[in-house]
Amino acid sequence: MSKIVVANWKGKITTEADAVALARGSDREGMVICPPHAFLDDVGAALSHASLGAQDYAPDLAVRGATYVIIGHSDRRREGETDDVIAEKLALAVSDGLVPVLCVGEVRAERDLGQTHEVLKRQIATALSRITMGHPSIFIAYEPVWAISTTPGAELANPTDVAHTIAFIEKEVLHGGYPAVVSYLYGGSVTASTALGFLEKKDILGLLVGGASLNEKEITTIWQQAQEA
Ligand code: PEP
Repeated sequence: MSKIVVANWKGKITTEADAVALARGSDREGMVICPPHAFLDDVGAALSHASLGAQDYAPDLAVRGATYVIIGHSDRRREGETDDVIAEKLALAVSDGLVPVLCVGEVRAERDLGQTHEVLKRQIATALSRITMGHPSIFIAYEPVWAISTTPGAELANPTDVAHTIAFIEKEVLHGGYPAVVSYLYGGSVTASTALGFLEKKDILGLLVGGASLNEKEITTIWQQAQEA
């Protein structure tokens, strides 16, 4: 069974030429490429196999060819985006026919205080609360903020711990009875040398990759591993 790889370029690609070159080099079935908003059209035109995604909800995504959208990324939460705003964006994305990739995860202080489950429970319950019908497909990406490469002092998460946390999220989603079909991803400092440990876990159905997605060789190796997982 092949697993999905979502590439979040964040703001690191700053020219159209670089965006198109990286899109061509990453253009594979099973990849979702999320360029900065400004390059959606150019990247969309460069892709024949990969899907186009956006890094945040906007009303024009579907008409610009995006089929996926990242919602609730920790960069946005850090800028003050609340669970309620995330819930609203998620509902809008679903009604636009997009597949949301909802990011959830605790910060280091919450982990150290033993609050991980409590934080995830709240993030999920609010984010999914406005889906009232339709059974849309949704991805939930568990991204512990302390493991994201841009977090100062980022630590590598342990795949077994991640699998346990994803099992907890899965239980919460089942318990909530939300009318959605949910699949689970992991994100946080994944590279070609660490991807397999996560991909080997049966409940992790793919990866959300930030920094390593900017390197063609690295993301291709991760994609190959996801194909064989
Ligand atoms: C992210 O920012 O969503 C992410 C997973 O980044 P990185 O892979 O660089 O930790």
